[in-house]
This record gives sequence, C-alpha cells and structure tokens, in this order.
Amino acid sequence: MICVSIGRTRHKMVKMEHRALAEKGAELVELRLDWIARPADVDRLIKDRPTPVVITCRRPEDKGRWNRSEEQRLAVLRTAIVSEVEYVDLEDDIAEQIPRYGKTKRIISHHNFDETPHNLEDIHASLCEKDPDIVKLVTMANSPEDSVRILKLVANAKVPTIGFCMGEYGVISRILCGKYGAPFTYATFSRERELAPGQLSFSEMTKIYGYDQIGPETAVYGVVGDPIAHSLSPLIHNFAFRHDKMDAVYLPFRVPKDRLAETLQEFEWLNVQGYSVTIPHKAGALKLAKHADEASEKMGVANTLIRDEDNAWQARNTDYDAALDSIRLGLDPEGKASGDPISGKQVLLLGAGGVSQAIGAGVVNAGGALTVSNRSRERGETLATELGCAYTSWENRGSGYYDVLINGTSVGMYPNFNETPFAQNFMHDDMLVFDTVYNPENTLLLKQSRERNCKTVSGIEMFVRQAAAQYQLFTGKEPPLEVMRKTLRTGISAVGKL
Ligand code: NAP
Repeated sequence: MICVSIGRTRHKMVKMEHRALAEKGAELVELRLDWIARPADVDRLIKDRPTPVVITCRRPEDKGRWNRSEEQRLAVLRTAIVSEVEYVDLEDDIAEQIPRYGKTKRIISHHNFDETPHNLEDIHASLCEKDPDIVKLVTMANSPEDSVRILKLVANAKVPTIGFCMGEYGVISRILCGKYGAPFTYATFSRERELAPGQLSFSEMTKIYGYDQIGPETAVYGVVGDPIAHSLSPLIHNFAFRHDKMDAVYLPFRVPKDRLAETLQEFEWLNVQGYSVTIPHKAGALKLAKHADEASEKMGVANTLIRDEDNAWQARNTDYDAALDSIRLGLDPEGKASGDPISGKQVLLLGAGGVSQAIGAGVVNAGGALTVSNRSRERGETLATELGCAYTSWENRGSGYYDVLINGTSVGMYPNFNETPFAQNFMHDDMLVFDTVYNPENTLLLKQSRERNCKTVSGIEMFVRQAAAQYQLFTGKEPPLEVMRKTLRTGISAVGKL
C-alpha cells in the first residue's frame, strides 16, 4: 500500500487533494498538519474522509513547518487520536507522552536527515520499545549501500516496519520496501510537492513502478548510472513488463563513478537479475563481466549486464546493433537490399564520444566509407586512427559529399533544441540523416533535413531498439517494440527533459 502525503497551507486545499487522490485510487493519505497556516482543525479535515488517514505534525527540527508551541502540537495529536483517526505518527521522543487510546494505530517514527547511521538496529530496537503498531525509520542515503542496509533491516524486523532512505540514492528503497515486508511506503501528491528528498509522486509509484504489484517474488532489474534521476529507461522497461504481465520491476540505481564493482557486490542481496548500464559505467561494466560479446569487446564498453548460469555477469552492447539497424532502416525501409545497405556508402559521423565510437566501429565493419568530424580535433583524430577511417575538421564538415550523415554529438538535445550540428545548406536531397539525439524526437537537424527532402531516422529508433534488445536478454521474450516506442514518446513529452 502507498501512503500519499498532503502538505497544503489551507484546509480546503487539503480536502480537495484528498478527494482527488481517493479518486485516483489512493488507499491511505497522510495529512501533514504542520503545513496548515491557520490552527489545524482536525475534525474538519477528517470529516467524511474518503480514505483512511495518517495524522502527522512535524517540528522544524524534523524538517516540518510547525510554528506553534510543543504543547499545542501534542494537543493536536491527542485530538486526532480521540477522533479515532486510523494512524497517528509520533516521533520517538514524544511517543511516551502520548499513550495508546482507542482504535488509532501508533506509528513510532525516527528520521535522520544527514545519514544512515551505523547503529540502525539499535535505533530500531529502541523504537520497538515505545508501544508501536508500526515502526517508521527513515534516513538519508549517502551511498547506494545505505538503501540495502535499511531494506535488510525491514526484512529482518519482527515488528511491522516502514524503512527507507531519503535522497536520490534512497529512491530504490522507497520502491522496494514493500517487497521486504513494509506495511506501506510514502509518496507525494505530485513531484512539485515533494515533502521529503527523493520522494516519488503517487502516479510514478503506481503507473511507472506498479508498487502494489511488487511482492517477495518480483524479479528486480534496473539501470546503473550517474546521474540517473531523469533516465527514461525505468519508464520504458516497466511498461514493457506490465504489457507482458511479468512479475518484474526495473529501478533507477544511482551509482557513483568508480564505485560500480563494490556497489554491484552490495546489490547482490537484492538479487538484481540484470542491469542496463549508462554513463559513466559503460567501461566499468565490461571490466567486471566474466564474459562479453564481440561488440562490447571491440568497443571497450558495455551497456548491459546479464547473469549466466553460474550467476556471473556477462556483458553485452545493444547500442551497437541498435544504431546500425536504425541506419539500415533509413537506407532500406522495406528490407529489400541484397547485402548490407551500409556497405559502400559515404558516411559522415559527427562526434567522437561513446556513442560515436560504437557507431563508427559499426559503420566500418558494415563496409561503409567513414569520415569522422569532431569539435575537439585531437579526440576526433584519435577515433579516426583507431577506426582506420578518414577525418575532416569540424570547420570543413560541410564540404564533402556524403550518402549518410550521423549526429553522434549532443548538439540539439534538450534544452538546446534550437541548435544543430550541421547547416541546412550542406545537405542534399538523397542524404539519409540519422540523429542519435532522442530528446526532442524532432530535432532542428531532422526538421531542416526534411525540408531539404532528406530521409531521416530519429534517435528514438536507436533508443527503443537498444532497450528492446536488453528486454530480450533480460526476459528471453520477444520485446513489445510498439509499446516501448509509444511509451518513450509519451515519456519524452511528459518529462520534457532527460
Ligand atoms: P559523450 O561521450 O559526452 O560525447 C559527446 C560528443 O558531443 C563529443 O563528440 C563532443 O565533442 C560533442 N559535443 C558536445 N557539445 C558539442 C557542441 N556544442 N558542439 C559540437 N560538438 C559537441 O556523449 P555520448 O555518450 O557519445 O552521447 C552523445 C549523444 O548521443 C547524447 O547526447 C545523446 O543525445 C545521444 N545518445 C543517444 C542514444 C540513443 O539510444 N538514441 C543513446 C545514448 C546517447 P567534444 O569531443 O569536442 O567534446
């Protein structure tokens, strides 16, 4: 179950949000009395309530907004209990001043906004001594391991325990705590109304992560990267799992640079079945894998980790095929060409970063005549030397004649959608233009290419294909390509940014 927190300054707004949440399917709502500007009228707030409630009233030292006396705060909490609300949240230091009464269940809570302390178990034991129905222990995660520690505590607790971490490293524990026995987790009405760091909205919890369907047997997958908060991979993979009715969830794992190996070791307890891998871990993923496919070996980077029969990690690179298949689709949409449509084509690749390295290697392997151009000359020349292909300076990139233009740079990506890496007057009618940028889908480069009657392929095609190939590796199932494509498009327009 998800408890959705409402923090509004007016009684009227609290009641409106409460009704809206009930209509959206919320089963439990936390009313944060400390947010209400006027003296809180508990009876008014709970009269005709559409769902059960948790009554909470936080002091400033607990990151709340209560600005009246402590006596008044305790009086409000006692009133809530006398009114027989379903739950009342009592911080551990006041729990003994407010005795059990009637049917109201006691949530004895402890928050640490700085860290996940070493003595978690001791703190938990002391909370258990304060006559709780539920213990709530919430700490700040300063590393991915902190989330694992708190989930272990939830799993081993004898008293029903809600335990999760705040902050970006803690997001996974908010989503997984129910799997390990927490009676509920917390979410917010909307992301703009985040009441604690890292809190997800009710609709993210339900629509993306399917929180209420996550159980002890649910298989866990995810993407490792840093930053990871705006990744669309959880959206696309979770929707595909849902479409195929799979008991699986896909999470955003923020893992700091240079900490991949240790973190995956810690995550063994979560029994993660497979990872997508993104910046800055693509090279690290390959290093820690026991086996790798040819594409990963060739490029020195992997974007997928899957388990083999001995439970060891195998590295795969699905970016490589995804990019090349996107180009092939653009050159030969009907699939009628007898050989590889890339073979013999003059290809200009803009960029020399990770994505360009993969695409460049693929084009050369497929028999394309490749020229690389990059803003930083040295990096571009190094890539061209490695691939054994031509190099042209950034200033001269428009001077040659090419069948295929590939943008492997980040130029044109949100929020800089008014930029393009290639002037329109350099284009010609028969050119295929492939932009790896997928947010926005219709980049300025692609818009101008269409105006010049060029054929175009957007970065969406590559993104969906690399994700679909991962899905197949994770599940052994045929990926629901159309569902994934549609989800990505909806996600991009909803999120607006990556
Ligand atoms: P990267 O390693 O950071 O490389 C960035 C590249 O962009 C470098 O070549 C860089 O040139 C160039 N660049 C950045 N700003 C520029 C500017 N203002 N003018 C000219 N060149 C500029 O990044 P990456 O991992 O290769 O990713 C590149 C892009 O690929 C991403 O931005 C993303 O849009 C796209 N992508 C697409 C997918 C997909 O599935 N469709 C997946 C991943 C990435 P310098 O060497 O001069 O810095």
